[in-house]
Amino acid sequence: AGPSLKVISTMSVGFDHLALDEIKKRGIRVGYTPDVLTDATAELSVALLLAACRRLPEAVEQVKTGGWTTWKPLWMCGHGLLGSTVGIIGLGRIGQAIARRLKPFGVRRFLYTGSGPKPECAAEFGADFVPLAKLAEESDFVVVTCALTPATQGMCNKDFFSRMKKTSVFINTSRGAVVNQEDLYDVLANGQIAAAGLDVTVPEPLPTDHPLLSLKNCVVLPHIGSATYATRSTMAVLAADNLLAGLRGDPMPHELLL
Ligand code: NDP
Repeated sequence: AGPSLKVISTMSVGFDHLALDEIKKRGIRVGYTPDVLTDATAELSVALLLAACRRLPEAVEQVKTGGWTTWKPLWMCGHGLLGSTVGIIGLGRIGQAIARRLKPFGVRRFLYTGSGPKPECAAEFGADFVPLAKLAEESDFVVVTCALTPATQGMCNKDFFSRMKKTSVFINTSRGAVVNQEDLYDVLANGQIAAAGLDVTVPEPLPTDHPLLSLKNCVVLPHIGSATYATRSTMAVLAADNLLAGLRGDPMPHELLL
């Protein structure tokens, strides 16, 4: 937009796609859409977790291709949430909304990691703040809901995955770059973790011949976390209101403070 650019309004809560240093330098104001997409994204995260741990896409495929024959005790078994430990990387708005939804499934223990303990947020779930390595070692489900920053980029790597249990399930609904996808492929292909569910990847869209898509134990969705009609409509209105307020020089409903 050149030097006349005054306001950027992004229809997202994530802002890792914005060149913040340059934006700040030019005095450009930024509006974004936190809160209004929290519930939809948490709901999708739970759906993805259940799809991955109970092997739903694989099971649907079996029905369609005639793999469903006589009843066998262990056929299509997966791992359930009852009595489990769930580790949340980034107990922010979406992380908390996921924990709130998972608790009634009978989760025994919640762990979380982040820049520091957040006792007020953690109290609702009795969640314990732990270092990243301990979260990997003790969780049956790892759910990534942190923002993408230089500190979180590539955070879920070989070292992280090698600490996870063979029976554990990894879910990412934050940003693809938090995960080293080559390392994730290796642990999934070698059975070092049970399954993964990704709503976000690098790149997006993920090429249809990407190795991750060849794995039965990896469920990949096309970045649909906030994709309900109602949520997208609310996001659109908020993004427009942010933009108009910014152009008028008024306080924005949700301005990103740089
Ligand atoms: P919040 O700002 O509420 O939460 C972000 C969390 O990231 C914070 O709790 C923060 O923890 C955590 N975090 C920051 N640095 C680190 C770190 N080094 N290690 C661990 N955690 C860290 O944002 P939201 O919950 O609203 O959104 C989170 C992200 O989800 C967005 O940034 C976006 O990328 C993604 N998203 C994806 C969607 C999808 O469609 N899949 C839809 C919407 C959002 P702390 O407070 O301790 O610093």
